[in-house]
Amino acid sequence: RAKSAGGNRFELADPEADARAITRHGLTTALPTALERGEFFIEYQPLVHLGDGSVRGAEALVRWLHPQHGVLGPDRFIPLAEHTGLIVPLGRWVLEQSVRQAREWRELHGGVEAVGPLRINVNLSPCQLTHPGLVQDTVDILERAGVEPDALCLEVTESALIGADDDLLKPLRRLAEMGVDIALDDFGTGYSNLANLRRLPVSILKLDRSFTQSMQQFPADPVDLKIVEGIVSLAHSLDLAVTVEGVETGAQAEQLRILGCDTAQGWYYARPGPPERLHELALVDAAG
Ligand code: C2E
Ligand code: MG
Ligand code: MG
Ligand code: MG
Repeated sequence: RAKSAGGNRFELADPEADARAITRHGLTTALPTALERGEFFIEYQPLVHLGDGSVRGAEALVRWLHPQHGVLGPDRFIPLAEHTGLIVPLGRWVLEQSVRQAREWRELHGGVEAVGPLRINVNLSPCQLTHPGLVQDTVDILERAGVEPDALCLEVTESALIGADDDLLKPLRRLAEMGVDIALDDFGTGYSNLANLRRLPVSILKLDRSFTQSMQQFPADPVDLKIVEGIVSLAHSLDLAVTVEGVETGAQAEQLRILGCDTAQGWYYARPGPPERLHELALVDAAG
């Protein structure tokens, strides 16, 4: 069973201290060349099956090793990358690296037959959704790596799809038809009409961390319990799997498991870390 075990990971810089030290302008000028300078790297955080505790895959989370300011988390530079257009090549790079990583994990332990190959989750920014190359780039990347589409899950935030018209949904539909899973990230933070879910080509809801936080006490607030229970039952009746984010304690994991959530992610299991770490966790897991 995967348990948190620090060590072997990068610390993110303190966002508040950094905010004072780094001007927005400074980052914006360094950003365009950061990709070619190889300053980005990816950490992977395991996705764990709540029923049996097995590692089923990982979410890829990008970081920027800034030459002066150290490691910056995505909240510091993704908005800038979206603003400057770098998000398209950066997003493609993250996808390519992650899919190749998934391929490597599969080669390293084809032995985990019971749970199948480790899956890889990659975040997509709204700007990538409107970029005409998305579907073809994804097909090419999967083919080059020799990875099946059903090993890939693309995460799109609920807010990016609110009020989405058909043009925006078309590329996602094509990817879903190919077998790529689409997850609705940070679900519950936007104001999307639940009935709207039927229209979206998604197969996974990622319940926002705020719900997990409200499961801190045991027993949790009865109203919060009802809300999560309702979301899970609606999701399951629509054939959607439910993943929960931000699980930090065993009590939360247990509560969310009882509520019927399928998969969990959070510091309780492991922090985001280098790919070898994920591989170790999955192997320990397979060994029993
Ligand atoms: P997200 O997709 O919702 O990712 C989950 C975030 O929660 C990650 O923050 C992760 O490190 C953090 N987290 C995981 N477990 C816990 C926990 O138990 N407690 C707490 N407090 N936090 C936890 P991170 O890495 O800072 O990423 C922030 C956001 O940046 C992501 O939110 C995602 O929206 C975006 N992002 C990350 N990588 C990429 C990328 O390659 N492309 C795009 N477009 N966005 C990305
Ligand atoms: Mg995500
Ligand atoms: Mg999320
Ligand atoms: Mg989130």
